[in-house]
Amino acid sequence: MKNFIQHITLLFLIGFTAVVQSQSSLISDSIQSYIAKAEKLQEEYKYEESLEMAQAALKTAQYNNDDKSLGYIYNIIAKNYEINEDDHKARSNYWRALVHAKNSKSKTLETDLYNNLAQVYTKHNLTRVKGVDYYKKSYKYAIKLGDTARMIRPLLNLGEYYISRNDFDSAYEYLAPARKLIHEESSNLVKAKLNGLLGKYFLNIRRYIVAEEYIDQSISYSLGETKNKNNNDELISTYYEELAAAYETKSELYRKQLDYQKAYSFQKKQFQNILKAKDYKKLIELQRVNIKYEVDQYEEKIKKVESEKKESQSEVQKWRISIILGIILILISLAFLISSYKNNIQKKRLNGDLIEKNKELIGAKETAEQLSTLKSQFISTVSHELRTPLYGVIGLTSLLMENPEVKKKNEYLESLKFSGDYLLALINDVLQLSKIETNEVKLEKVSFDIRSLLEGIVNSLHTKQKSNKNTVHIDVDEKINTTLIGDSVRLSQILINLIGNALKFTKNGNIWITVKCLKNKTDSYHLRFIVKDDGIGIPKNKQQTIFDNFAQVKNENQEYEGTGLGLAIVKKLIHLHNSEINIKSLEGKGSEFYFDLTYEKAVKEQEISLQTRENLSIGTSNFNVLIVDDNKINQIVTQNILKKKGYTCDIASNGMDSIDMLKNGKFDLVLMDINMPEMNGLEATKVIRTFNTHIPIIALTAVEEGEIRNQALSVGMNDVIIKPYDTQQFFQTIMRNISKVKMA
Ligand code: ADP
Repeated sequence: MKNFIQHITLLFLIGFTAVVQSQSSLISDSIQSYIAKAEKLQEEYKYEESLEMAQAALKTAQYNNDDKSLGYIYNIIAKNYEINEDDHKARSNYWRALVHAKNSKSKTLETDLYNNLAQVYTKHNLTRVKGVDYYKKSYKYAIKLGDTARMIRPLLNLGEYYISRNDFDSAYEYLAPARKLIHEESSNLVKAKLNGLLGKYFLNIRRYIVAEEYIDQSISYSLGETKNKNNNDELISTYYEELAAAYETKSELYRKQLDYQKAYSFQKKQFQNILKAKDYKKLIELQRVNIKYEVDQYEEKIKKVESEKKESQSEVQKWRISIILGIILILISLAFLISSYKNNIQKKRLNGDLIEKNKELIGAKETAEQLSTLKSQFISTVSHELRTPLYGVIGLTSLLMENPEVKKKNEYLESLKFSGDYLLALINDVLQLSKIETNEVKLEKVSFDIRSLLEGIVNSLHTKQKSNKNTVHIDVDEKINTTLIGDSVRLSQILINLIGNALKFTKNGNIWITVKCLKNKTDSYHLRFIVKDDGIGIPKNKQQTIFDNFAQVKNENQEYEGTGLGLAIVKKLIHLHNSEINIKSLEGKGSEFYFDLTYEKAVKEQEISLQTRENLSIGTSNFNVLIVDDNKINQIVTQNILKKKGYTCDIASNGMDSIDMLKNGKFDLVLMDINMPEMNGLEATKVIRTFNTHIPIIALTAVEEGEIRNQALSVGMNDVIIKPYDTQQFFQTIMRNISKVKMA
């Protein structure tokens, strides 16, 4: 802001310069009058005052670049050096003056300067000829100007010069025109000088009478001036010198006419005047010391003024740059303002558009969310609806296959079972993935025994294990001596997938399932789960992609069943636990999958868990089971499976019936379907628990386990089996629950 104000001020200042320029002519007038005065004073040998005048004019002339005035001023300065007999400086100042005179086209000044330069040059032998040339130049310039006084000066000087060289004819060439030009107003010094020189000339040509007339004229002009009180010492001294010169000529004149007495008396007068001139010169000498000091000071001042001028010029330059920069800045600011304004308008328009778009997007998001919820609901419902008939298909196929007679007759049974199993796996996986992706899966906290969990998984996979003739090794760290608290269902899903794959992709080999305790804290275990096999292995470039949905490594020679979703589910479930799945594998050598999870310790449950494990070995006996299911096919499948193991069964087709039957009959366990008409399994359980608290009730349902387990347990059920189930796991669950009651 400060700079801006400075620039504005400067702009005003520039405006003012026009006014100032018109004033400069006034200033120049006053400089001229100063110079004229200085010159006049110099002509009168009043150097001090002349310098004062010059000094007064110099600064302004420098500032205004006034060449004409500068020429005059340097001329005055040079003259002062000349008087001080510093011819070198005098010469350089005359030349300086001449440059300014030429620049200003001042012919009068040029005329004077050539005359002055000539005076200095003719004093020295080496430059004499040049000096004569300059006199002549000055004379020519003065003629062009028609300036009589200026014409006389070089003429007299040339006359004097040639007389001093005893070249009288040449002298007369210049003295004759000077004589013609001289007039009343010419100064007495000029008159005295001219007459003196003419006297010398006529003496030399022996025209004694004319010569004496000129000499006497000269004497009378000089004599009068020696008494003139207006003249300063220098001038008086000069007049005395002129007198001495005139008397010298007169003495010679008489000597030439052999009148020695007169010659002697005039010679005496010559010496008297020389002495007088010297007397005045002494005074002048004293003054000259002062003048020299003045001149030196003057030179200093000139230098100072010149440097100041340069500075002021550079200052002006700086200001100019500042102004230009200021203007550029203002222009840039203006451009910026304009573009900001435009941008603003555009922004407002865009903002409006954005608000509209945002509304649309929010609407779209809401629709997408609704769709997503609908999708999960749809998947969940469809899965359930698909799983229920599948239970029938798989269950009945299994039953048929167990009958050797039927198996022999129907070779398509194997394919039917395979397709059923595949369809079931696919439904389960898609359902699982969809739930994880819609953030529906929340980790549960239940207590479980890691050893039983692993054994259960391995047992459930025993068909695969057997078919590929693999040996499974389970190694659980001994530091783990309590049950764990965490989501056992998710852990099972992870391990079933990994162990299932290991069994699938290994033939005649080994599977090692290891649980290492990495950190054993007071209330938690940090565990590493490792599933390792010595099967076909996975190529390096496929080791990351196998975790993508539907990713499978293509093997030309071997065919493996699978959906390609297992590892994708594993990865996501482990992520849910804030951990990562890792893989080490070498093609042809085997694979190792490992991950780390933390579980809380559940000390109180330890005993029960150990008891349960021990009692798992209780053999089957004639337990009576109540099957509650509305689906006729499922009733048959479950009943046949149980009967095969020596169980006896009764069937209730809905919740209401089951209550009646339980009140009246003796049962060891209830397998309760959840989704049933009239009264569902959960409601029925609640009622049963009002009169029978001890009988184990196991939910047998096609509903996703994660969805139902908590609900089932909260109404008083003891366990959950998901249809379709693995038979061995099915019996284990039944046995575990029956034995719990029997042991109690
Ligand atoms: P799939 O249902 O095909 O087994 P997964 O997602 O579980 O789907 O596995 C993806 C692919 O990763 C498999 O098809 C297989 O090519 C490879 N794979 C997984 N585990 C193993 C393993 N233990 N040994 C060799 N290959 C494996």
